[in-house]
Amino acid sequence: MQLLDDIPFVLDVDALLKRAHLESGTEDAAEFRDLACRASAEARPKALYKECYIDAKGDDTVIIDGVTFTSHALRRNLEEAERVFAFIATCGRELDQIDIPQGDFLKRFWLDSIKTALLGVSLSHLAAHLNKRYTLGKSATMSPGSSDVTVWPIEQQKELFSLFGDSNELIGVELTDSFLMIPNKSVSGIRFPTELDFHGCQLCHRAHCPSRSAPFCSALWESIEHEIESRAKRVTAPDNE
Ligand code: SF4
Repeated sequence: MQLLDDIPFVLDVDALLKRAHLESGTEDAAEFRDLACRASAEARPKALYKECYIDAKGDDTVIIDGVTFTSHALRRNLEEAERVFAFIATCGRELDQIDIPQGDFLKRFWLDSIKTALLGVSLSHLAAHLNKRYTLGKSATMSPGSSDVTVWPIEQQKELFSLFGDSNELIGVELTDSFLMIPNKSVSGIRFPTELDFHGCQLCHRAHCPSRSAPFCSALWESIEHEIESRAKRVTAPDNE
């Protein structure tokens, strides 16, 4: 298990201003810059990862370091894999210490956009670190609760976090009873080697998502549905022997 907690970053404040639809030279833009400056001074984006090995594969299950995960899409993606990297990446808790008045929703929204950028820094740093250290080559990630709810149910966050032990102590990320993470700008998942161009968004029906990284892929969706249905038929078919 390794913690990456010394991640260098420079916030692209101009890009953040643009994304927040703020015009340079305005009072709001000046306040945003001030907030970004405070955030830059405080922020410590981090990533925690664990090199894990696959113990066994079932029809819809994969046992990783002794923990059973249930997801047909995950099982399918790990067909050729023997080793995976479980990870938690976060913008860090430090930004929650920045004092913003309770009713100032605009500033809270701005801070959230800065936290999102810092989460991106953390994820990119982790990907580059894994590529360099393990010569990972082409890889993809899956996260419980990402994509459509049935793809890899969010409840499996519990199993994923169990691979790490005390995540709050290790990286300052807490899993709530409803399987969400605190800080809110955190991502957990499994990175795996693959020759396919897989993105979780390909299995997500949500329309107009501003964070979509790939279009919905009906061919992939139907292929997974078909595999699940075929197996269900095999299981329920009468024994002809
Ligand atoms: S489309 Fe949006 S909600 Fe769906 S998996 Fe991608 S980022 Fe998540």
